[in-house]
Amino acid sequence: MSWDLQPQIDDWRAQDLWRELRLVESTQGPVVKVDGKEMVNFSSNDYLGLADSEVLKQAMQEGVDFYGAGSGASRLVCGTLRPHRDLEDALAFFKRTEAALTFSSGYATAMGTIPALMGQGDTIILDKLCHASLVDASRLSGATIRVFPHNHLGKLEKLLQTATGRVLIVTESIFSMDGDRCPLVEIVALKERHGAWLMLDEAHAVGVIGPQGRGLAAELGLEGQVELQMGTLSKAIGLSGGYLAASRQVIDWLINRARSFVYSTAPPPAVAHAALVGICEILQGKDGDTRRGRLWKNLALLKSDPLPTSAIVPWIIGDEQKAMDISSQLREAGLLIPAIRYPTVARGSARLRVTCTAGHSEAQIRRLLAELAKVGLGESAAPAEA
Ligand code: PMP
Repeated sequence: MSWDLQPQIDDWRAQDLWRELRLVESTQGPVVKVDGKEMVNFSSNDYLGLADSEVLKQAMQEGVDFYGAGSGASRLVCGTLRPHRDLEDALAFFKRTEAALTFSSGYATAMGTIPALMGQGDTIILDKLCHASLVDASRLSGATIRVFPHNHLGKLEKLLQTATGRVLIVTESIFSMDGDRCPLVEIVALKERHGAWLMLDEAHAVGVIGPQGRGLAAELGLEGQVELQMGTLSKAIGLSGGYLAASRQVIDWLINRARSFVYSTAPPPAVAHAALVGICEILQGKDGDTRRGRLWKNLALLKSDPLPTSAIVPWIIGDEQKAMDISSQLREAGLLIPAIRYPTVARGSARLRVTCTAGHSEAQIRRLLAELAKVGLGESAAPAEA
């Protein structure tokens, strides 16, 4: 096997599968500067506009002043500082679980949690559209992996009937590239009937849906029936990091067995401190409610029939090249909406993934609609769900 990577790179380039990083020369927000040009940004997951908010910036500064810049070691060695503990208590309260554990990212949360709980002889049943972190973590665990077509309850039930060992269903409350929701009530009923556990990734739901922005399980009153509630601090909470909320027993198990937790330096304490402030903002409903209110007002403006089910509104194009062409046309017009294509989504289902935030103005949304119409993507062309 040769170490010359160039032929493979050339091949990927030829297939338009080679990507490059785009440098943003401003803070994150509804308007960003890219290639020296100001663009309206409809591609970020900063749903509540907290990433560049005064409240979080002040909290970060406060965190550095109180707790310093670095955390020194992994949490089990000597890296657990007061804000790490306080944040986890707040997350447990937020998710109505006995306990919670934070990780350096959402990706690391999945990679630590699933292999710590599942292994050879066990079965993991995943929705086909689950995020890469959940897929990779399931592979790493060594458990048997079964996949059901997106949100297909009949197929899920069939797989449950033949599953062996400990059985874990893994799904998301809001799917990251489609913006639609999982049928949580039915999935909970199925997993109870079959004695399985459920891991629900609420990455795109927290801060956006549910009472006080507490997510889908909270909206449906099912928090007590979802054994593993995963989320990130990197989307509506505006920072970076991930968490798993569960019973005290599970969290203690993860503290001992989740390798991405045990063998990784604790996130900077200032980030934990700021995340706690972000959660309080969302929870208290002070700023959070008005931010969430603004987000949903913007979403209703963007798409009214039917209303979006989340802050992610995909315009499915299908053809990869066409999606890229439309994306660059929109870019010319000053709108940042990258085309999402294979391997992030299935071949032939390339799309513009539009995300709306609380920070967008009505004028920016109207401008988006006008530009979408110019490229032939009026509201009628927007599918309700992928
Ligand atoms: N789960 C889902 C559904 C996601 O969309 C993402 C990030 N795109 C993650 C997990 C990973 O989270 P993080 O970015 O914090 O690693």
